Amino acid sequence: MSDTLAPVRPGKLIINGEAVDAASGATFETRNPATEELITNVAEAGVEDVDRAVRAARAAFDGGAWPKMKPGDRARLLHKLGDLILANADEIARLETLDNGKPIFESRHVDIAMVAGCFHYFSGWASKLTGETNSVNPAFFTYTLREPLGVVGAIIPWNFPMIMVGWKAAPALAAGNTVVIKPAAETPLSAIRIAELAIEAGFPPGVFNVVPGRGSVAGEALVKHPMVDKISFTGSTEVGKHIMRTAADTVKKLTLELGGKSPNIVFADADLDAALRGATMGIFYGKGEVCAAGSRLLVEKSIYEEFTAKLAERARKMVPGDPLDPKTRLGALINEKQMNSVLGYIETGVKEGARLVAGGARAPINGKGTFVQATVLADVDNKMRVAQEEIFGPVLAVIPFDDAADAVAKANDVFFGLASGVWTKDVKKAHTVSRALRAGTVWINMYNFFDPGMPFGGYKASGFGRDLGAACLQDYTQLKSVWLNLE
Ligand code: NAD
Repeated sequence: MSDTLAPVRPGKLIINGEAVDAASGATFETRNPATEELITNVAEAGVEDVDRAVRAARAAFDGGAWPKMKPGDRARLLHKLGDLILANADEIARLETLDNGKPIFESRHVDIAMVAGCFHYFSGWASKLTGETNSVNPAFFTYTLREPLGVVGAIIPWNFPMIMVGWKAAPALAAGNTVVIKPAAETPLSAIRIAELAIEAGFPPGVFNVVPGRGSVAGEALVKHPMVDKISFTGSTEVGKHIMRTAADTVKKLTLELGGKSPNIVFADADLDAALRGATMGIFYGKGEVCAAGSRLLVEKSIYEEFTAKLAERARKMVPGDPLDPKTRLGALINEKQMNSVLGYIETGVKEGARLVAGGARAPINGKGTFVQATVLADVDNKMRVAQEEIFGPVLAVIPFDDAADAVAKANDVFFGLASGVWTKDVKKAHTVSRALRAGTVWINMYNFFDPGMPFGGYKASGFGRDLGAACLQDYTQLKSVWLNLE
């Protein structure tokens, strides 16, 4: 492994503009999934630390340090943070790859652009949030004010740690909220580094806090805290449901971005080379640990055998490699538990009657690391567990279909509704199928594209509320109606 660069500093909590230890002095280890080696120790936030962070965020909000700052000045700080992320791109990308096991190609060239892009894009919105004047009655002057919510708690997963900081903190801050971010315990380093850069950029104390720790302790404390106005959560559907129940006690606003089992539909009239590339990238990008992964590939029967054979050939060429090598396109899964769960699903699929046409096994490097081969299961029936449950790994289930109606029925016959793909040269079919799909995103003749300006979120059990785009600002603001009697 080529991890010969500088050692990583121990991670601290970022509370009230300072890097601090946990009140208890507790720390936890964060390990490199590719080498199984210790990266560094990180301060572990307990209930008391979360309380400190929330109170700092509350004071920064109620005292007006952030919401009453001129929107143009807030915008400048957000933009500067985006610039600082770009200026420190190599370092942040390396932290992300060490922590998560994803290829450095992805962290350095995709994730960095997205997280910096979020701070740049939403900086523009800080000065463009407006209410309306309403002419309900000439005797009154009536108008609405679009106001921030207050303190936003952002709870984020391990698969896109730095991107999620951008998705959640950038719009929340642009709208005038203050934030407390709880990164996943597996991947705390990039969020801590970005919060340090926020201090360097000149954000007032208390505006941008980070409390790494366990979900059951730090996450739970954030959701229960009465001074938190909203929780923006991305993670598993199980934890999302639990958060929804817990947040009910304090009637918190919620955005939930949950799991997916997204259909990627290939019609016989598609550009099949492009579809092949899109299908491969749709599942193996990010090791398949991607909420929007095109994990169910629906292929029209007339091209099914040939397409599946070509897909298997491509998958066999995607050999897992050292995540720090710029040429690597398939990295290590987040940890052993996840790897065993993925391998267990492959076994289940085969037992259920699927045909294993590529991969299927662990692929350690020098005897180490949680690498799994790019795996393709063919002849999958949509009722099988491998077609219905989120595997969250490099495992593709290929399912044949008869016609557009059959494709749509199979695509929608699932608990989730996060994303979907359609490959066809027929424009009418592309749009009619897109309308029929019950999913928050449809990609036509493309897959896994994101932009800070385009909303993203779930239908059905994939959650509610939106990240990104102007639409998500609704979820970080509230409307006040003001009535003035003119008589
Ligand atoms: P997870 O639900 O286990 O954890 C997500 C976060 O919640 C972590 O920070 C964790 O510490 C915290 N958490 C756990 N228990 C908690 C509790 N009781 N109270 C408060 N917080 C708690 O998810 P994960 O394994 O980190 O991530 C993978 C999941 O995330 C997948 O299901 C994936 O589909 C989903 N995901 C969804 C999207 C999306 O936009 N829809 C994006 C990325 C990932």
